[in-house]
Parts: sequence; C-alpha cells; structure tokens
Amino acid sequence: MNTKIPVAISRCLLGENVRYNGDHKHNRFCTGVLAEYFEFVPVCPEVEAGMSIPRKPIRLVLQPDAQIRALESDNAAKDVTTDLSKQADYFVQDNKTVAGFIATPNSPSCGLFGVKLYLPNGNPVNKTAGLFSARLQQLNPLLPMEEAGRLNDPGLRENFILRVYTYHRWQLLNQEPLTARALVDFHTRHKYLLMAHHPAAYTTLGQLVAGAGQADIAALGKEYITVLMNALANPAPRQRHCNVLHHLMGYLKKLIDLRDKQELLGSIEDYRHGIVPLIVPLALLRHHLERWREQQQYLLNQVYLNPYPHRLGLRSQVHP
Ligand code: SF4
Repeated sequence: MNTKIPVAISRCLLGENVRYNGDHKHNRFCTGVLAEYFEFVPVCPEVEAGMSIPRKPIRLVLQPDAQIRALESDNAAKDVTTDLSKQADYFVQDNKTVAGFIATPNSPSCGLFGVKLYLPNGNPVNKTAGLFSARLQQLNPLLPMEEAGRLNDPGLRENFILRVYTYHRWQLLNQEPLTARALVDFHTRHKYLLMAHHPAAYTTLGQLVAGAGQADIAALGKEYITVLMNALANPAPRQRHCNVLHHLMGYLKKLIDLRDKQELLGSIEDYRHGIVPLIVPLALLRHHLERWREQQQYLLNQVYLNPYPHRLGLRSQVHP
C-alpha cells in the first residue's frame, strides 16, 4: 500500500481562507505530516452550499419539534439547514473512495462532537455534531471521522489512522466482487489486531467468517466490516497488547534460545509497566520473526505488526 489514501478534510484546515470571517484554521500536523500519507479531498460545505466569504455566522438551534436547524446567528429567518445537509449527499456521491474525514472542531457544519446547540431564545442547551458531519456519518457510519484538534492526543491519533488504513484495505479488497476466500484471507491477516482491540469481536468475526462458504457473501461482508470497524474504534489497552505479544512469542518458543526469550519477555514487561513504548517489544519480535521468515510467514502477514507506515511513529510513544 504505497499510494496515498484519499481522506476528506475541512478546507479551512488546509489553510484556505474559507471561514465565515475570511480566515482559516490551518492545521500543521495535517498539512505537514499526514499529507505525506493522505491524498486530501478538501470540502467546505458552507462555501459549496453557495454561502459567500466572508458571510454571516450560523448556529444550530433546537426547534420545538426537536429538529435541529442551522440559522444565521443574528437573523433566525435565514435557514440554511437543507443546503448544508445536502452537501454531504453530494460529497458521498462524488467521493466514494475516501477512507476518512478530518473535521474542524466547533463548526456548526463540520464539527463532530462539541458544537454548541442553542434554544430559539439564544440560550445554549447542549452540544451536538455539525450538520454536514452528522449527515455524512448517517450516510456512511463506517467512515472513520475525527476532529483535527483531537489528533494531538497520541491515542486518538493512532486509533484514527489505524481505522483509516483498515477501511482503505477493505475498500481495496472490494474493488473486485467479494469472495468467501478473499474475506477469509482478510480476516486471517487482521486476527491479532482484533484480539488487541476487542477479543469478543475477534470471536464473533471468526464465527461469521467460518460460514462464509455458505452465506450471501455481499451481506456477510457488510456485517463483517461493520463489526470490525466498531471493534477497532475501541482502543487497545496495554494489557491486551501484552497478551497479543505473548501469543506471537509462543510461535517462536522452539526457535529462539533462552537468552533471546528472556530479552523478549523483559521488553514486554517493560512495555506493560510503561517504561518503553510498544515499538520496542514489537521490533524485537519482528527481528526474530524475520530470522525465521520461512516458518513464520503467517505471522509476518499479520496487520498487527504493520497496521500503518512505520515512519508515522505511532507506536513510538509511551501513552496509556
Ligand atoms: S464549513 Fe467547514 S470547511 Fe468551511 S469554513 Fe466552516 S469548518 Fe471550515
């Protein structure tokens, strides 16, 4: 997977002056680091809905019938709800290959989590998602979505990028009609990743895939990827990474000597206690697997060992 992955992004994060006040929200992590791996597909729902730059700000207002409308902040008669929501439909129609969306926080169009929701009298009542993002999520619940600011958190950043790469692999697999064999291969490569993120889903998906030969494969594929993407949204705690590392180490028990075993076990324990990052035991494990490449092809094919480009350094930090 050497080509860049198409990922949607709020245009103002790229430094484009498209905000209501003619400003931008340039995010240097996106344009400086992620742009090396992602082919950004910029979207500004407000501008694409025909709103000018600059323009009057809008806000989300909870109506007495429980609907949420996007209204101009100082002119509630100006309602842009339909125009904004439709942009998500157009975007999905035109961009079927995007494998993720990076959104601007707090925007009544693009925000994902903490967008202020007001009562008609102007009092804030709650927090919600922006209209474009809410509709995008409704149209494609599998699409990994994250706010740019939250990518500063190492755990959230790792999890988002992991899901983007996984979803992209699934999209590539589905460029051809899905077969039972292709699904089984895909699942086989993701086993240890699943085990680290969600052991119950690991079991569920194993059972699902076991019936692939007899099932309606298109329906089974949809069910499979839904469970997988939801499972990966759960962070993998350190303890579970340790379990997976021990499992993987089990394949080497007859191949490496006592000294190497103790070194590997020591690095797993150091990782468990937060002394070294995950990359330390993983690099050691990979080193031994490479030495026994012929016997260990099954493990070397595991996505767990290589879920995204190593150069992103996502496993090089000690974080909870
Ligand atoms: S609508 Fe989205 S992309 Fe456009 S300025 Fe607002 S936050 Fe940025």
